[in-house]
Amino acid sequence: MERLIVIGSGPAGLTAAIYAARANLRPLVLAGGMYGGQLMLTTEVENYPGFPDGIQGPDLMLKFREQAERFGARIEDVDVTAVDFARRPLVVRTAGGEREARSVIVATGAAARWLGIPGEERLRGRGVSTCATCDGAFFREKHIVVVGGGDSAMEEALFLTRFGRKVTVVHRRSGLRASKIMTDRVLANEKIEFVWNAVVEEAVGESHLTGLKLRDAENGSRSELAADALFVAIGHDPNTAIFAGQLELDRAGYIVSPGGTSTSAEGVFVAGDVHDIRYKQAITAAGSGCKAAMDAEKYLEALEFAAATRA
Ligand code: NAP
Repeated sequence: MERLIVIGSGPAGLTAAIYAARANLRPLVLAGGMYGGQLMLTTEVENYPGFPDGIQGPDLMLKFREQAERFGARIEDVDVTAVDFARRPLVVRTAGGEREARSVIVATGAAARWLGIPGEERLRGRGVSTCATCDGAFFREKHIVVVGGGDSAMEEALFLTRFGRKVTVVHRRSGLRASKIMTDRVLANEKIEFVWNAVVEEAVGESHLTGLKLRDAENGSRSELAADALFVAIGHDPNTAIFAGQLELDRAGYIVSPGGTSTSAEGVFVAGDVHDIRYKQAITAAGSGCKAAMDAEKYLEALEFAAATRA
């Protein structure tokens, strides 16, 4: 029986693991088949304190992991397939079997959202992608389209100028949601153009993407934009499918945690993007991982004290 299982291994999960390990809880981290979370799909991270020259996302996550392991966290790169939080001890299932724990921290993060338009799924990996870091290099000297108006879209667009002949940002409104610094950088980049008030209705192409069908959001007129690649950067959805019916979720699927890190199941705590609809930063995720570990530690202390006094 584990005292604490951490599900997830982004900044939230691994910070929780560092704090829990330093509290001698010997946490078991079920890191997922691909550990590290969304920063593994990022290049330069410039706003994580302590790295004045910036750091590559995967390098930062390796440091988190090494730090957690240094204090005794055990990390297994496996996916959690189901949980039973109605039982005591709590049950967490993986392909390898069932694990029991007195407490759990859920830090499963969020995943990139897709447009859900015709052609998108069929052309995934054939010009359509959500990860510029992974796929950008395939489109040297090509025309690349990025859809979205937030920081992710701006970051992707800037990164893709390394490869593309031209990068066009297609946004459904006439104003960006992105931060001022990112907006200024994008507007100053000569390789980046904008198509405003445009909704992408279809990804077109047979064996690979050749273009996009657009609809003007204001006057409804339709047009086609030739493109070799489409990078979808329209935000993220929380990874909570396995917690449906186990934890209270809000309408968007985020875990409800009114008191900070506690959830609707006793002994189950939450950290990071999976309950954060607002900030979604590596540093805020790490901060909430710290809080969740401290709350889990207090919970275990009370639980184990009660058991000892009963015995
Ligand atoms: P976001 O801020 O929620 O922006 C999503 C963008 O996609 C919005 O512009 C939205 O349009 C658009 N969009 C959403 N659904 C769409 C759809 N179905 N069709 C077309 N467009 C759609 O998400 P994000 O850019 O991933 O950023 C999330 C958080 O991470 C933010 O807090 C951001 O600051 C942070 N972040 C920071 C950095 C950085 O600092 N370098 C980098 C990446 C992310 P509307 O504007 O019309 O709603």
